[in-house]
Order: sequence, then structure tokens, then C-alpha cells
Amino acid sequence: MNRARNAQVKEICSANPVPYFVDGMWSLGSAPAIAVIDPANGQPVCEVACADESEVDRAVRAARQAFDHGPWPKLRPDERARALERWANLVERDSEVLAELETLQTGKPIRESRGDVARALDGIRFYAASARNIRGEVIDVSDRHHSYVVSSPIGVVAAIVPWNVPIVLTISKAAPALAAGNCVVVKPSQTTPLTALHLAKLWEEADLPRGVYNVINGPGRSVGEALCLHPLVTGITFTGGTDTGLHLGELAARQNKRVMLELGGKSPNIVLADADLQKAIPGSANAIFYGQGQICAAGSRLLVEDAVFDQVVDGIIKHAEAMRIGDPLDEATEFGCVTSLSHRDELLGWVERAVADGARVVTGGTSADVPGLPNGAFMKPTVLVDVPADAPISCEEVFGPVLVVQRIKDADHAVALANDSIFGLSAGVWTKNIGLARDIAGRLEAGVVWINDYGVFNPAMPFGGVKLSGSSHREWSHLALDAYLEHKSIWEANS
Ligand code: NAD
Repeated sequence: MNRARNAQVKEICSANPVPYFVDGMWSLGSAPAIAVIDPANGQPVCEVACADESEVDRAVRAARQAFDHGPWPKLRPDERARALERWANLVERDSEVLAELETLQTGKPIRESRGDVARALDGIRFYAASARNIRGEVIDVSDRHHSYVVSSPIGVVAAIVPWNVPIVLTISKAAPALAAGNCVVVKPSQTTPLTALHLAKLWEEADLPRGVYNVINGPGRSVGEALCLHPLVTGITFTGGTDTGLHLGELAARQNKRVMLELGGKSPNIVLADADLQKAIPGSANAIFYGQGQICAAGSRLLVEDAVFDQVVDGIIKHAEAMRIGDPLDEATEFGCVTSLSHRDELLGWVERAVADGARVVTGGTSADVPGLPNGAFMKPTVLVDVPADAPISCEEVFGPVLVVQRIKDADHAVALANDSIFGLSAGVWTKNIGLARDIAGRLEAGVVWINDYGVFNPAMPFGGVKLSGSSHREWSHLALDAYLEHKSIWEANS
């Protein structure tokens, strides 16, 4: 049964199926519709229309047509900024609708979804303002020439979005690409398309040009891949699993397309003996348990200095056991469910294998019962100690609320252990010695480091990883705009 509470959400979900948005029009597609499942009760929220390859072709051609002949790329920066502001204002108006849709499709607590919607809104406004700052430069290198560089949009951008933070990751891609003057085709995860689709509804309501923001639905391997490899797509921005991203990167390289990859992580979070434990303990617990651990930057490896190891582990256990697990739609819920029952079973399987490898479960490690939701994908926040450093659970991305705690001798040992990973997305350091913290931050192989905090975000700060966590570009900030711009050098001979 659909558990929507908001009248508008009920109405959105009553469409059967919910159409997707191409060229300013709503389409039902010809492929079989896909059910969006509420992980809190295992029941369909609604069905969404699904594209096939011919619809992918239509979407990309519409975007290219809008790019070549529509107004969007030619708008003055202030006009484009105002257009994005109009979109943002409607997103703000519909914040509660978007938050409820996000919770119904992901299982995250409503309070987290509200935070995600606020971050997405801030992201649109940040890039609306940035649209006014895209500029070229004069590089005066010759007394015989006037030489300068102009920046222009790259064309059609394919944006591939995963299921864990759908609205934020739709905006992290679409907003800079649109601000730079590109046209975008978004392919959300087939399991969580509802917020990207509602953003399309708001795009339409804001009376923004057709063909510029398109959303199609469908499975990744067919629809997503056909979209990315379409000859008229110039740039691909992908967030998702490392294997999928590397596969896509390989295919796209053969077409010499611009590819931006944001992939997995196994982020180390270091607590040194002199840390302020009043802050480090709840901060480290939130680093892994926020989003039910299904966050690419989750601090899933906690590296604790020997002298405070027991105190920190005890504190994290208390924090985990005090979290209110419950119906994601309830205001009081602090910890919702994971994305599906099959994902929960995989997570419990990870814990079982870790125990077989010698780990000890100090809290959690089982499913959780939530009254009234017997088929929900709930599991308890889980903490493991005594885990061998080379056990798969210490090295691979688990993508759930499972924390591995390891003992470290000192800061050098922590850095060595932290960097001994195929991933390099983010990291945390907790110590009162700020000089040492900065030194460690400099030595950590990661795209983002938080000192005496974890997980803070602002659209003005770049986000992205090194090693197998991502390609060298960054999302967010002014740096992301660059991924969606061509820079042309022009030499004008003096007459
Ligand atoms: P996934 O790789 O299974 O899917 C991601 C998206 O790619 C989905 O929309 C899917 O339909 C699509 N897709 C799948 N195969 C494709 C193909 N061959 N061609 C084109 N598109 C394809 O990932 P997921 O399970 O949805 O998301 C979880 C993963 O995302 C985790 O590994 C997580 O770490 C990662 N993630 C990374 C970041 C980051 O910023 N680095 C942020 C969030 C999530």
C-alpha cells in the first residue's frame, strides 16, 4: 500500500505509470513500466514509465536540437541565472513534496530527506549565481596579436544518478551543466526516479525552455549505456558503483568523450588519543550511520589510537543503540531503512563473513523490527572490532550501516593504514593538535578531509575522490563548471 501522506505526493503517485520528461513533454514510453518500491514496507509507491533505446535517441536529439537552435545556450548570463532562480523558487515551494518522495523511494528518515532537498536547493542557487561568473580571459602574449580565451558549453550532457541521494546528485550534475549553457538528459536510478521527475515538473512550471532538462527512466545497462554512448552526447557525468563507472569510462574513452566519474569509497576516520571525545564519538557515529551508511563518503573505517580505543568503541555502541530506528516518514525517526530487503540481506551476509574472518560484532549485526512495518528493510547500526586489516570487509565498500573499528599505534600508523586502500574519496581526523591534523590531512590520499568534524558540505566546496573513487574532476564549487565548458583560444592578428 502506498503510504504517501502529502496530498500532492498521493496525486503524483496515482499516475499509472508516472511518465518521464523529454523535449518538454511527458512520455509513457513503450518499454514495460518499472515499480518504485517503498523499502519500508516492500510495496510499490507507484510505477514509472520506462524508455527504450529509440526513446533514448529521441531524448538526446531533442537536447541537441535545443542546444543548436533553442534559446538556452545563447541566454545572457543574467537571464540564465534568473531562469535557474525561478526553478529554485519552485523547488523551495515544493520542498516538502520532494522530501516525502525522496523518503518513500529511498527509506531515509524524513528529516534527512529535508536536509537533502535543502542541499539541492542551495546547489541550484549556487550555480544560478555562478552562471554570471562564467567568463573568458585575455592572455596577452604577443605584440602582433590580440589573444584571448572564450568559454562555451560543451553540448549535451548525460547525467547518470544512483539511488542513495537522488535529488542531491541530480542537482550536483544538472545545475552546473545547465548554468554553463548545456542541455541535459538525466537518467536516475530505476529504483529512485521520483525526485528527478518532480524537478522536471517544476522546470515545466517555471516555463523554462523545452529540451534543456530531460529525464528518462530505465535500467542502467540498456537505457543508461545507450544514453552515454549516443554519438550526440558530448559529456558524461556518472555517480555510482566503481565497477559500473570503470566499465562506462572504458567505453566512453573509445569515443573520446568527456567523462566525469564519482565512484565508491571506504573512507578512513582517524581518532587520535588527544581528540575531544565528546565531539569525536557522536561525529564518528554520524559519519557512518547518516543515510544508513549508504553514503559514498561514509566513514566506514574508524581508526582509533590505542589509548582511547575502548572508550571510543563504548561511546559509539551507546550512540548506535540510542538511535531511534523507525518509520522513515515519522518525524522522530533518526535511522530509517536500507534501500531494499535484498540489500539488507547482502549487508547481513557481509557481517556473517566478517565474523567468519575473525571479527567480533559489538552491536547490531541483525535486522531490526519496526512495529507496523514487518516487511521493511530495517537493520541495526552495526559495529565490528577485531577485524583483520586484509579481510574483505576492511577493504571493500559495503554501502550500509556497518562500521569496522581498527586499533592504531600513532598518527603515522593511521596514515599508512588509511592510505592502504584502492579508494580515496574522503577522510576524517580528530585531534586537538591542529598542526598534526593539517599534516595528516596533507598526507591522506583523499579528495576531501574533515578535521574535527565529518560530512559537512557546501556547494562552494569541491567534492570528489582520487584513486578508484573517481576521475580527476570535482563535483560542486566553481571547479565543477569547468567540466561542462569548452575553452577556445582565439588569436587575432593586429591589422
Ligand atoms: P550503480 O553503479 O549500480 O548505478 C548507478 C547508476 O548507473 C544507476 O542510474 C544505474 O541505472 C546506472 N547504470 C548501471 N549500469 C550502467 C551502464 N552500463 N551504463 C550507464 N549507466 C549505468 O550504483 P548504485 O548501486 O545505484 O549506487 C551506489 C554506488 O554509488 C556506490 O558504490 C556508491 O559509493 C556510489 N556513489 C558515489 C558517490 C560519489 O560522489 N563518489 C556518491 C553517491 C554514490
